[in-house]
Amino acid sequence: MASRRRRLQTLFDIISIGYELLDGRVLNTNARWLAEQISGLGGRVCRIVAVGDDVDEISSVIRDSLRRGIDWIITSGGLGPTYDDVTLQGVAKAVKRKLVQNRRAVEMLRERYRVLAEEGVVESPELTPHRLKMAMLPRGAKPLENEVGAAPGVLLRAGRSRIVCLPGVPSELENIFLKQVKPILEKSIRKIAVADRWIYVRGVPESTLAPRIEEVRERVPGVYVKSHPEKREGESFIRLYLKAIAKRKEDCEKLLDRAEELIVKAVEELGGRIAEEGEAR
Ligand code: ATP
Repeated sequence: MASRRRRLQTLFDIISIGYELLDGRVLNTNARWLAEQISGLGGRVCRIVAVGDDVDEISSVIRDSLRRGIDWIITSGGLGPTYDDVTLQGVAKAVKRKLVQNRRAVEMLRERYRVLAEEGVVESPELTPHRLKMAMLPRGAKPLENEVGAAPGVLLRAGRSRIVCLPGVPSELENIFLKQVKPILEKSIRKIAVADRWIYVRGVPESTLAPRIEEVRERVPGVYVKSHPEKREGESFIRLYLKAIAKRKEDCEKLLDRAEELIVKAVEELGGRIAEEGEAR
């Protein structure tokens, strides 16, 4: 994708945490769900990475996202009360901050366990050391209320990036994202316009057209061109997909017009012709 498009869009990495994702026990539906939500809001997911419950692995992927200038780093999993829930240790290490007990998170846990004890889900509302572990957040982080389970989500600024940590249980992740993260994203994601177009090319082999497509991508940054070759009765047939990203719709159309003009010229020079969509059938 052209670098200009990268700068125009708000960039996201999704980091899924848990050994159960790596050994095939659990399908990573959280990443798919988050990617769909983020794309729907106009954000661009650059990477989806899965790592185990390992402090160094977690810290290393987060550092990598920070180094690449990702705007929003979203993690899922590993926020619970057990010894192997180490996401926040990994985050703290990546941003070089201490884990400290967050007063607001303690209040959230107190209220959650009071309700859970009343409902008979847990025996006692007591905030045991394991429960209090979920209130140990990197210094400066903000807890995000978990209305479905216990572990609060976490929001943290790190330079120009923001890190959001969500629990692994899908209903908890979805609740925190929809209620507390999405409203912030709706306000802060850079608004972009997108337009696309198909061009059909007959009589030019894909390998012959390839350098000319490279040229178009260089001369018209902001336009993404993907070729889908199909052979038709011995004569090559290529479906070209063009997608433009810009601040305004009319700018996208101008970019597509310019790219199309260059492609038509190239196809003619190479002895091929522009075909109609129906000819592909
Ligand atoms: P909690 O505090 O609620 O236990 P947690 O953040 O500790 O949450 P994990 O222990 O990492 O969550 O995961 C809990 C369960 O959520 C897993 O056993 C698995 O069933 C599910 N889960 C975890 N990660 C994913 C994922 N990426 N996609 C789908 N389901 C997941």
